[in-house]
Amino acid sequence: MATLSLKSIRKSYGAFQAVKGVDLEIADREFIVLVGPSGCGKTTLLRMVAGLESITGGDLLIDGKRVNDVEPDQRGLAMVFQSYALYPHMTVADNMGFALRMAGVPKEERRRKVEEAARILQLEPYLERRPGQLSGGQRQRVAIGRAIVRKPKVFLFDEPLSNLDAALRMQMRIELARLHHELDATMIYVTHDQVEAMTLADRIVVVNGGVIEQVGAPMEIYSKPATVFVAGFIGSPKMNLLTGALTGSSVVLDHGETVPLPVRPPLSEGAKVTLGVRPEALAVDPGGSVTGKVTVIEHLGGETLTHIDIGRGRLVTVKTAETAPAAIGDPVKLRPDPGRLHLFGPDGRAVALAG
Ligand code: ATP
Repeated sequence: MATLSLKSIRKSYGAFQAVKGVDLEIADREFIVLVGPSGCGKTTLLRMVAGLESITGGDLLIDGKRVNDVEPDQRGLAMVFQSYALYPHMTVADNMGFALRMAGVPKEERRRKVEEAARILQLEPYLERRPGQLSGGQRQRVAIGRAIVRKPKVFLFDEPLSNLDAALRMQMRIELARLHHELDATMIYVTHDQVEAMTLADRIVVVNGGVIEQVGAPMEIYSKPATVFVAGFIGSPKMNLLTGALTGSSVVLDHGETVPLPVRPPLSEGAKVTLGVRPEALAVDPGGSVTGKVTVIEHLGGETLTHIDIGRGRLVTVKTAETAPAAIGDPVKLRPDPGRLHLFGPDGRAVALAG
């Protein structure tokens, strides 16, 4: 299997820097998910690892060996793309075995490898079908099968589920997690879908504007976002982010209300801060310090999202189990759980609030 080291990796297109110096160590058999908004540089990063883009600066090491100038097919990687690009006139078995045929692998060995991949991907009943006779999810499994038969050291996935509908995405997510377990391979997976990132990753790498904002296990990133950007990006529904100024051990929000903090943070008096509170850590409570009015209620079955206008059109979201805490139009008071507040300083970085 394989380890990867990315050392100060950069990519420029003319004067534009798409990737601005990325350092990342990836352990053998790790499932790394690169996540970030459109245009943040995650696909460029993956394509540099694959050898499909040249590396402008820095070093890429696979198993300790510098591979910046090694041809893609010599790097021991296999990439699965968003568009499956299967040959429509070939059967599933022939599609999966095509790269092996090109590499001159004997027919019997090819058959064995294709059957093994089909077993892992539960594609055995479809081996003689053509891609046009398959569902989207089955086609994507064939594309993954094409990668598996080559026994790569590292699997690279570029938004492989983006073309699938919501139900299939969920099913394929579970299958990818199972696949990682079964193949015991190193995997790097690019997505802009933070639910995929949370559910699949051993470690998530949050990318923004060509730099890494944070690297960590999913729950670490969720519960301890290092920056305002990560706080707002990871989590669905989004974390409520309210701007204000630090006054003693409270934050005076921009529209005048005061939220007490559990401790006095190490910032100067009056510092511009952002207070973060997840929807599940915000309660409708008559003793709360923030006033608002309920504008929209979304019943999602197992949970309910209540959207509350706290003035100047600013909406915050409260998440509750099953029933809404108030009705549309009701004036309410909101109380954040003091133990689950997040504070970000003027530079956008998290400030510890532990006592
Ligand atoms: P998405 O989720 O939309 O695919 P991404 O995070 O994968 O976004 P990249 O495709 O890596 O983003 O692109 C990063 C930046 O580099 C973008 O601003 C993009 O416009 C730019 N870029 C990508 N390829 C080229 C190119 N060949 N020439 C010039 N600029 C490029």
